[in-house]
Amino acid sequence: MWSRRDFLETLSGVPLIGGLVGTAAVAGTAPVQAASRDYFGDLGIKPFINAAGTYTDMTASLMPEEVRAAWEYAAQHFVPLNDLHDRIGERIATLVKAEAAMVTSGAAAAMTLGTAGVLTGTDRQKVVHLPNLVDMKTEVIIQKAHRFGYDHAVRNCGVRLIEVETADELERALTWHTAMMLFYNNNNSEGKIRDEEFVRLGKKHGIPTLNDCAADVPPVENLWKYTAMGFDLVAFSGGKGLRGPQSAGLLVGRKDLVAAARMNAAPNGDSIGRGMKVNKEEMLAMLVALETYLARDHAKEMQDFQTRAETIRQAVTTVPGVTAEIFVPEVANHVPHVRVKWDAAARGVTPTDLSRMLREGTPSIGVRPGDELLIGVWMMRPGEAEVVAKRLKEVLEKKS
Ligand SMILES: *Cc1c(COP(=O)(O)O)cnc(C)c1O
Repeated sequence: MWSRRDFLETLSGVPLIGGLVGTAAVAGTAPVQAASRDYFGDLGIKPFINAAGTYTDMTASLMPEEVRAAWEYAAQHFVPLNDLHDRIGERIATLVKAEAAMVTSGAAAAMTLGTAGVLTGTDRQKVVHLPNLVDMKTEVIIQKAHRFGYDHAVRNCGVRLIEVETADELERALTWHTAMMLFYNNNNSEGKIRDEEFVRLGKKHGIPTLNDCAADVPPVENLWKYTAMGFDLVAFSGGKGLRGPQSAGLLVGRKDLVAAARMNAAPNGDSIGRGMKVNKEEMLAMLVALETYLARDHAKEMQDFQTRAETIRQAVTTVPGVTAEIFVPEVANHVPHVRVKWDAAARGVTPTDLSRMLREGTPSIGVRPGDELLIGVWMMRPGEAEVVAKRLKEVLEKKS
């Protein structure tokens, strides 16, 4: 296993305390603590350095020390759950400059609960009926270019998605069955109707709009940009850029809709959201994650990511025949990544082979398998960019 000692050894040459504390503060993740028991090792599970990003199946992000302390604190006390839900929601709403907010079990749950709230309002009988749309509206409008896997989180509520392409088509698709309009923030530039116009159409026709911004922090301003723009509800993942619990997220927006979403959520037993339970640990840790994130020096953090990316780019391009470039995705995962390229046929190794070799090596390094080798640096812990750079160079050289 990747022990604390291995980790410290990789930092040789770095002034130890200054190096660790300095970078940890920027990255928001502390170095690995020695554990009294090798829990994952005992299960035959080998942890890896995250050289990919905030992917759920790779466990996404690590909680900073402040967040873990909040979790640990919450785990030691009983509290009235609904009161805690209220107070934390109010605090989060203030922090993100929204009318209201609630902690959910993730962005997907925020989408389901937000939709449920739009459908039921505060009618308890409707809450019980869902996903059977008895006396409820049945359709949600979405742009064709915005269809995505996560729209299942909205379809969970029994609604039908109506696809449109232009503003004209959208207005013609509106009927008295229309409950909501769904927007996928990441695809803003791919749809014919852009965010502001989408909001304007929603307001014109009195239809609530929901924006899925799950992976769209950073930049930090996105936490209030879309509610300020006029989206009625906005969903964020708690365990991606915000580095809260991976099983948490935020639904923010209109007070009446968040209140209605709460009625559809746990701990209410007879509700569509009962299985999307959030307990005191996730709630408190989510609040503290948000506070911690807001207090961070974002420019400095971005500079740190850039430095890591540059370290990796420089190391791999010393290998003959290997090129690399740094790029920043436009919306989601809006941080520096490194794209590494080589002639797979000539070198006899594909990006997929290489990602397997990285994962199976020591230390184990996790990247996204795919047609190209993309290295995400933002979920690395201090010192790991150097380790990844060295290992990548080694593996590519062996194959030259
Ligand atoms: C990650 C993601 C989700 C799901 O978020 P969770 O917090 O894991 O529920 C939804 N939509 C998009 C676009 C995402 O990237």
